[in-house]
Amino acid sequence: MSACTNSSIVSVAANTRRGEAQSSGTVAVPEPSELALRYHRTGNVLWAAETGLALLIPAVLLFTGFSSRIRGWAGRLGRRWLPTLVLYALLFSLVMALLTLPLAFYAGYVRQHEYGLSNQSLGRWVGEWLKGVAVSGVGLSLVLWIPYLLLRRSPRRWWLYAGLASLPITALLLIIVPIWVDPLFNEFGPMQDKRLESGILRLAQQAGIDSSRVYQVNKSADTKTVNAYVTGIGRTKRIVLWDTLLARLDPDQILFVTAHEMGHFVLRHTLAIILVAGFLATASLYMVHHFGDRLIGRFSWYFGFDRLSDVASFPLLLLLGSLASLVLTPAVLAFSRFQEVEADRFALELTRSNRAAATTFVTLQEENLVVPRPSWLYILWRGSHPSLASRVEFANYYRPWESNQELRYQHLFRRVD
Ligand SMILES: [Zn+2]
Repeated sequence: MSACTNSSIVSVAANTRRGEAQSSGTVAVPEPSELALRYHRTGNVLWAAETGLALLIPAVLLFTGFSSRIRGWAGRLGRRWLPTLVLYALLFSLVMALLTLPLAFYAGYVRQHEYGLSNQSLGRWVGEWLKGVAVSGVGLSLVLWIPYLLLRRSPRRWWLYAGLASLPITALLLIIVPIWVDPLFNEFGPMQDKRLESGILRLAQQAGIDSSRVYQVNKSADTKTVNAYVTGIGRTKRIVLWDTLLARLDPDQILFVTAHEMGHFVLRHTLAIILVAGFLATASLYMVHHFGDRLIGRFSWYFGFDRLSDVASFPLLLLLGSLASLVLTPAVLAFSRFQEVEADRFALELTRSNRAAATTFVTLQEENLVVPRPSWLYILWRGSHPSLASRVEFANYYRPWESNQELRYQHLFRRVD
């Protein structure tokens, strides 16, 4: 939920019925099925391949001089600085999309069908891929001039200014993406179940949220996995529930999921994410600043350019940025897991539905083929959420209200009659 279950996976698990109660009334964590274990293992291989490719492709584009050739074409067509940059961005996005197409098709289509996680049609996959390519091309051409203008104007501090510029850009993205980009891919509509909707609105009032929008989205056209998320800021902020999730959970479980997403809002997690993303961007750009000129000095004969301010250097920015983010990922994910625990705590304190919470996590585990206790290595580099086993266990035992202990978020809740 909220990014909550980006991770994926399972359903075969089990002869144990979902969330089967033990005598204590707590919910047991089911063992992962063979299929889930296989999905997990092959997922790690896939992650390594994708991560390697994110380094390899920019390196190849640099060392073969292909990037400078793209800049050459763009320059002949665009003539002036800004049109050249825009054309470079469009061409570069197209080249990247084509080079990553085989793996994207395998990961997003073939593999999802192999594991029974999708009934998406091939035509729909292709359509979404094409739209994705167009969106990334347009997106890159809208922002690429910023670091390159700063590189020309302030060769020594450009990385800091570009990093600071990423803050309003990320905020703007959070306004634009939910209303203009997301609807290109899926249909978003009001909740169909009006009783459930009024339950959710009541919960929102209790959580101290005045204007909240809850949407359901037809993800069943793309996947059989279940999820929900929060997005947007200001007037575009919203909670989105996948229709697959609405079909698989009962009303109490859906209210728990929604309360978790509300926790992200009330605890201002989006703001924190903007700041963390800004820090990441600045750190990556500093790496580029620190090593970029040295690498260019050494390899300019291969690269086909001799200044960082030449837009042909963009793959170098990507390469060093990917390396920096690989190094910083464990810290960012640790912060994300902290936010998720607090959103779970918020939701438990708000709903006090421990059982609904624990059984929700079991359903996520089974429907999305998740391995409940992944290795520490997985948690470090891929765990945006705590393991599902630890979430079930937290949901089982966290009941401070039963012993009259103070609730961490009580002061945020409102009484609703
Ligand atoms: Zn979440």
